[in-house]
Amino acid sequence: MDKIIDGKAIAASLRQAIAADTAKLTAQGTTPGLAVVLVGEDPASRVYVSMKEKACAAAGIYSDEHKLPAETTEAQLLALIEELNRDERIDGILVQLPLPAHIDESKVLEAISPAKDVDGFHPYNVGRLVTGNPLFRPCTPYGVMKMLEATGVELAGKEVVVVGRSNIVGKPVALMCLAEHATVTICHSRTRDLADKVRAADVVIAAVGRPEMVKGDWIKEGAVVIDVGVNRVGEKKLVGDVDFAAARERASAITPVPGGVGPMTITMLLYNTVESAKRRAAGK
Ligand code: NDP
Repeated sequence: MDKIIDGKAIAASLRQAIAADTAKLTAQGTTPGLAVVLVGEDPASRVYVSMKEKACAAAGIYSDEHKLPAETTEAQLLALIEELNRDERIDGILVQLPLPAHIDESKVLEAISPAKDVDGFHPYNVGRLVTGNPLFRPCTPYGVMKMLEATGVELAGKEVVVVGRSNIVGKPVALMCLAEHATVTICHSRTRDLADKVRAADVVIAAVGRPEMVKGDWIKEGAVVIDVGVNRVGEKKLVGDVDFAAARERASAITPVPGGVGPMTITMLLYNTVESAKRRAAGK
């Protein structure tokens, strides 16, 4: 087996399965629907939203776009979310972050119905993940789990070290590994002897946002390395949080950047939307 974990190929095969499920649901009268809400003109957000729309179209998912001006008030945004919560064609609601400073982000995320919270950021869904009974799992960490599964990595009893404790990646991926019976260590900026912690890991998951900070000689011989980081260096080059060239010499399997975790995030958004549509079709 090639030791490079090919995120593009894993995402492509998942997207095929998602498109097949969507076609089946549509034939039975339930077309999965995703509402995407963008407030303001942030160029990176516009790119992400257009990628999400294209991915929906390719999978046969109905996408309902709401591009609102930067001066949209919090009340107007909350009213739109209420409308989408009631809209029966919509199985998932995604509010593109960040929101303009005058809008309270957590208030908006908490207004989304937990049954349509395909990003998995609502405290209800976070709570269900913590208690081991998840409804929606956040997309990037869920993508990491699907990659480990596709690579045949068995987590039960393994030492997993997660570097980073954000709500969108580090914490949820740690909980998901715990649910798979790994022994999980979560590291962050105040962790002492980070290199030694990583050296003990059978599986390293880096989600920091610092170019190549995890060094090759921190990787235990034969460890699996998942690099969530995306860091721009110079004009065009993207690198991860792991020194890929050195780490691949020791790892048994490793994700590249780009082409690793990146393509999985939108894939899992589609996946969550279709799972939600299946629940709608089943009347749950
Ligand atoms: P955050 O900035 O929210 O969190 C970074 C985490 O790294 C924090 O917990 C921080 O610790 C920790 N950290 C920072 N410096 C160090 C250090 N020197 N040693 C140990 N830990 C450190 O980032 P995100 O989780 O949102 O994203 C992480 C990376 O993943 C980014 O590169 C981002 O671009 C990428 N990403 C990629 C996605 C994709 O591929 N689809 C999706 C989401 C993110 P502390 O809490 O103590 O501050």
